[in-house]
Amino acid sequence: MAHPASEETIDLVKEIFSSYLKEHNQRQTPERFMVLEEIYRADGHFDADDIFFNMKEGGTRVSRATVYNTLDLLVECGLVQRQQFGENQYYYERAYAYQQHDHIICKKCGTVLEFCDPRIQEIKTMMEKIHKFNITGHSLHFFGTCQDTEACEKRQQEQVGKKKSKVNS
Ligand SMILES: [Zn+2]
Ligand SMILES: [Zn+2]
Repeated sequence: MAHPASEETIDLVKEIFSSYLKEHNQRQTPERFMVLEEIYRADGHFDADDIFFNMKEGGTRVSRATVYNTLDLLVECGLVQRQQFGENQYYYERAYAYQQHDHIICKKCGTVLEFCDPRIQEIKTMMEKIHKFNITGHSLHFFGTCQDTEACEKRQQEQVGKKKSKVNS
């Protein structure tokens, strides 16, 4: 399921974002489009700081504030989805031309797995009928720990290393 967006998709989402910015009297700065592209090219779930540091590492000059306010705009216009995986943990992922899916999250190493199960659609249809309700969305996250403890441990250490290098940069 996880693969970077196609060039056509990237062109299309840029167009959508451009008209959204115009409509809302927001400036169309190249940095804003770079944040959008970063999310669609990288493919995955990132917190705002991840996005900021990935862009910086990739040689893009962009301020943290720009990343944060662009993310808000992207969520507002529906191109990016904000997911809450922990009490104060927010993750961003692309929403356009991307299959509806749910998440499995490791509480230790932070790995995020995606799954798609048509039975969720069946539950939705049934609940609409039973409760006479029009359901417009849902969020389902399973939390737990990796069964491969060795790999999980390794990822936890990588996370610590990444945080350290962030502090130093
Ligand atoms: Zn996802
Ligand atoms: Zn894990």
